[in-house]
Amino acid sequence: MVPQVSIVIPLYNESEVLPQLVDRINKLINSSPLTIEVVLVDDGSRDNTAEQIQRLSLIDARYQCVILARNYGHPLALTAGLAAATASEAVMIIDGDLQDPPELLHDFYELYKQGNDVIYAVRKKRKEGALKKFAYHTFYRILKSISYIDIPLDSGDFSMVSRRVVDVLNKMPEESRYVRGMRTWIGFKQVGYEYERDARAAGDSKYSFKKLLKLAYNGIFNFSEFPVKLITNMGIISISVSIIYLVTVLVKKYVYHNVPEGFTALLFSIILFSGVQLLSLGIIGEYVLRIFFQVKGRPLYIVKKRIVNKEEVDPS
Ligand code: UDP
Ligand code: MG
Repeated sequence: MVPQVSIVIPLYNESEVLPQLVDRINKLINSSPLTIEVVLVDDGSRDNTAEQIQRLSLIDARYQCVILARNYGHPLALTAGLAAATASEAVMIIDGDLQDPPELLHDFYELYKQGNDVIYAVRKKRKEGALKKFAYHTFYRILKSISYIDIPLDSGDFSMVSRRVVDVLNKMPEESRYVRGMRTWIGFKQVGYEYERDARAAGDSKYSFKKLLKLAYNGIFNFSEFPVKLITNMGIISISVSIIYLVTVLVKKYVYHNVPEGFTALLFSIILFSGVQLLSLGIIGEYVLRIFFQVKGRPLYIVKKRIVNKEEVDPS
């Protein structure tokens, strides 16, 4: 039977939370009038997440699993899941740790039926540490102010998207993926849905600081021209300042006959502009690096194993 909704869930070392997740989803599917399939993606877990989801998808046809060849990170695991959900009319994206309640599926589907292509969840409240909350809050506001697309505030990947949006996402070849930005960029009719984000059901966050930083960089560099413009503006400002400085020195020399004093100013400007130049090089380097990775044209991820309809299929 063709499913109406696919639920795509990327998983990395989630064996602790998996039984609870499957339990909640089973309850949801069993009580729902909709036909629902679940696409579980194992992102190179080191615990036995992969074994658990394989076992499940071999006995229950409503679950299909995609096992990736290594840990590619959440955005790519999600991309692999979206590519596997080919049949349904709408796809719901959730995290595996039950921070996003799967039960919202019906409300999302209702909004989808009303003609919305993207229903993105907006976090009203987060049950997380103060520092993390502050960092997220600030980051989203900075990104919004510098981005050339209008990325909604406090919304993550938790969403439901229509078939045509999934198809566009699947065709987008970009290597560094900031899925929530790509989703906004696509357009069509998008609507927010406010909810309270729960705490993680079990285990610890699988987003290391390094992964979070990478995500933030992808948001900024892929959806904003601000970094390049910053270099130009710094250039303009430093040229203006140096002209003003030159004029002051000349006035001092010819009008007041003062010898220009300058050791501190010299040292200061050397240090300042070395910093400015390194920063500029770094920013340009960031773009070069992105071009470098993109032109290689490597596949975004490699699938090691796939189980659909209780049977192992060709992973490619
Ligand atoms: N995840 C993944 N690959 C990774 C890191 C995380 O697939 O390299 C998954 C993880 O299993 C979870 C989701 O991405 O289902 C969100 O991760 P997490 O809940 O740890 O992030 P947080 O909520 O702490 O930001
Ligand atoms: Mg989480």
